[in-house]
Amino acid sequence: MELKKVKLYDTYQGKVVELNPIKLGEVSIYYCGPTVYNYVHIGNMRPVVTFDLLNRVLQACNYKVNMISNYTDIDDKIIKKALEENKSEKQVSDFYIEKYEELLDKLNILPLKYHPRVSNYIPEIVDFIKTLLDKGFAYKADNGDIYFDVSKDPHYGELSKMKIDDLQAGNRIQVSDAKKNPYDFALWKLTDDKGVKFDTILGKGRPGWHTECVVMINSYFKMPTIDIHGGGFDLKFPHHENECAQEYGYSNSKLANLWMHVGFINFDNQKMSKSLGNVVLAKDAIEKYGGNVIRHFFFTSYYRSPINYTLEAIETSKQEVEKYQAIVNKINGKIKLNKMEFSGDFDNDSYEEFLNYLADDLNVANALMVVDRLAKKANQLLRTNQINLTEISSTYNTYMKMMDVLGLKFEVPNINQEDIYNYEQYQQFRLQKDYANSDIYRIKLIEKGLI
Ligand SMILES: [Zn+2]
Repeated sequence: MELKKVKLYDTYQGKVVELNPIKLGEVSIYYCGPTVYNYVHIGNMRPVVTFDLLNRVLQACNYKVNMISNYTDIDDKIIKKALEENKSEKQVSDFYIEKYEELLDKLNILPLKYHPRVSNYIPEIVDFIKTLLDKGFAYKADNGDIYFDVSKDPHYGELSKMKIDDLQAGNRIQVSDAKKNPYDFALWKLTDDKGVKFDTILGKGRPGWHTECVVMINSYFKMPTIDIHGGGFDLKFPHHENECAQEYGYSNSKLANLWMHVGFINFDNQKMSKSLGNVVLAKDAIEKYGGNVIRHFFFTSYYRSPINYTLEAIETSKQEVEKYQAIVNKINGKIKLNKMEFSGDFDNDSYEEFLNYLADDLNVANALMVVDRLAKKANQLLRTNQINLTEISSTYNTYMKMMDVLGLKFEVPNINQEDIYNYEQYQQFRLQKDYANSDIYRIKLIEKGLI
């Protein structure tokens, strides 16, 4: 099948570029996943939905997609939580991984190829750090901790457009005595605390956060460079910059050919933060509104721009999703209550137009305009008495296919014999101009949303 051209904004080059996969027709993608020590807030799910949309769009464009995302299950925050709750770190991380996966399910996220956990990669991480030490990109500080030497990477700062000299001149970060340069970062920290630690050739300790993704990318994809790497905007610096530096030190390669960063979420135009007390947990929002509404809400803003979470915005998405569901119900009603079946007709022109928009840096706003045009057409077809099976089927099949690419999942009503009986009674009484009786049946059908 023909591969459709896909264009995406690359943070590194600062422009929209054409995706040119390393392996023809196959796209390797990694996005940074959560540290599993608490319930994630709604903003954490925006990159997840964005990468899921990318996954679906690429598949619709005939690419095979190998997408993975990690769970950070070794972290000081997990250790702290485990001590507070008198649990093991594994119990804490297992619990929050399970809760997170429930959200993936409710948001209709396609299963990823793999969800690596840091705790399963300690030997690989140790080997990786050892290589960086051997190659002179890392050093052991006086306190025994191992740091990456940022000054050894001439490209440091290129992804986030930070100049290392500027960083040092105007540096606001605390310079630990152990580090050579302020932006050096810990690869391995020695510890004797109560948390999980590993007795390795690097000493008894734990890996720093920035190493795991690079190691898991190299291990899983078995190549130094992948097609797309990304995550939330906040990860661009220092996390992703540090990932790039390590891959450069390790294999003298780029970590990814294309970097995607997903915008922040605000609450009523304010930053969502614990200190402001305006954090919306993903589980609460999804429970209240459902996965479709939250997905649709994310679609109301270009994925790189900030998005503003307000009750009005969520309410608008709720109405849109209800409108979409009503069309599914009524079109099924129109066909199946008349004891007909959909034909296989399809509106290729509209679908191509829709997919072209999505293939252009995930332009959902324009793609949704095509969906809405089809929704309008569906409503026109529903209003006429005669049934044009080809037209209705073509509109419906295309509409459902588009919803699938967007990852919006609608219930198809189960129309049974009783519904068909009610419909026949309704029609018969109406023909007899017995409106009192026809109304009895009409109301039953309206309650089920079928007419
Ligand atoms: Zn990462």
